[in-house]
Amino acid sequence: MDRFHGFTLQEKRQRDEQSKLNVIIVGAGLGGLGAAIAILLAGHDVTVLEAASEIGEIGAGIQVLPNAARILFSWGMKEILEPHATWPQKCNFWGWKGNYLSEMDFHGYTRVTGVPFWDFHRANLHKGLITRAVQLGAKMVTNARVHDFTIGDNESSATVLLADGRAMTADLVVGADGINSGLREIFLGREDPPIATGDLAYRLLLDTKDMISDPDLRPFVDNPQVNYWLGPDVHAVNYILRGGELFNMVLLVPDDIPEGTVNTMEGDAAEMRAHFSQWDPRLGKLAALCDSKSVLKWRLCIRPSLEPTWSDPSGAFTMLGDAVHATLPYLASGAGMALEDGGVLGLCLGRLTDKSQSSKRKALEVYEACRRERTERVVQRGSYNQWIYHLPDGPEQEERDKKFKIFEKLDEE
Ligand code: FAD
Repeated sequence: MDRFHGFTLQEKRQRDEQSKLNVIIVGAGLGGLGAAIAILLAGHDVTVLEAASEIGEIGAGIQVLPNAARILFSWGMKEILEPHATWPQKCNFWGWKGNYLSEMDFHGYTRVTGVPFWDFHRANLHKGLITRAVQLGAKMVTNARVHDFTIGDNESSATVLLADGRAMTADLVVGADGINSGLREIFLGREDPPIATGDLAYRLLLDTKDMISDPDLRPFVDNPQVNYWLGPDVHAVNYILRGGELFNMVLLVPDDIPEGTVNTMEGDAAEMRAHFSQWDPRLGKLAALCDSKSVLKWRLCIRPSLEPTWSDPSGAFTMLGDAVHATLPYLASGAGMALEDGGVLGLCLGRLTDKSQSSKRKALEVYEACRRERTERVVQRGSYNQWIYHLPDGPEQEERDKKFKIFEKLDEE
């Protein structure tokens, strides 16, 4: 039976009315759904409010590192997710000309720890989380955009106000509304937009049928691996999904979306390909497989931690995920951090023996104390990787390439 921090979380805990919270989670993203599962397993009631009219197939590939996989296992999700997961054997790092730098042995790590590196289509991971949350009793409400919240007069509850005029009250409201969080701004009482990083992402999903006839590209399909190419101002990441059906490619380049406009827009595929025209010919071939004229560009933003605190002193409101600590995806860890937040919040609420204001406040203090420093480090490390990955050719890049060999030494130990 999976255990997590000493608890067995396979079955919902029984709670009496003295200690059972009615929790509202705002946002049915990966973080909000993870929190729903963990809080349900702790024995509380959960309603998830999602602005979208339906929860559909959005996003592209997502890497789930062992820290997050371990939590998903502890929530009883191994069987739900395994059929949709790809298990990359290793991660290769290449210089931009295709020169081999280093590799990390993922399967070796799994053999020792029992926990996998997994790759998913985000839609499969998302659907798996919904399935588990609903199994455990989550009430899912779509078309429910929260546009305000207030703390109750007696400070033991919070009320969310929906765009359509409905109001809903709970013992605890959890803001999991993502990087463009409105709840963060309401909580702070001022505007607080995400911060542009100077990079944008092109996200492509290629059909692997188009790759297998090319001997240079076929190995990417036959051997599930994650590949990184690092070069001046630009890098690329790719891996297969759905057991080899799709190939996920993310190209990270300088942000040229006009400032103060939108964060996503249609881009020109020829312009995208031009970034890689001098690179490893395999990347040029992959980019050429994108047959549409336009590709979506995503401006990459971050959110440094929410100061001074993530939670209201009433104990009736807290936040998690990208809303409080969105990071560059250069550690493949944003969703992992959001899932960890949910897991820890569930454990803290699992220890409640009553639902008094002071008990809830204490639980939220412990939650934040466990999460703040780690998530701040991940945001900083993501920005550090932006510098490391994008070094121009020269002595610093040569030093970096030498240091990347450390991954292989770690594998040997
Ligand atoms: P979201 O997933 O954004 O969910 C927020 C939800 O709230 C949405 O469903 C939204 O509709 C809803 N919402 C918003 N406002 C309201 C409102 N007012 N009322 C009701 N609902 C509302 N992470 C990894 O771990 N591994 C990776 O490999 C990885 N790759 C990435 C690649 C790219 C290019 C990018 C951009 C990100 C990547 N990430 C990765 C990061 C990851 O996608 C995010 O960190 C994660 O999705 C954050 O989850 P969240 O629940 O906090 O927010």
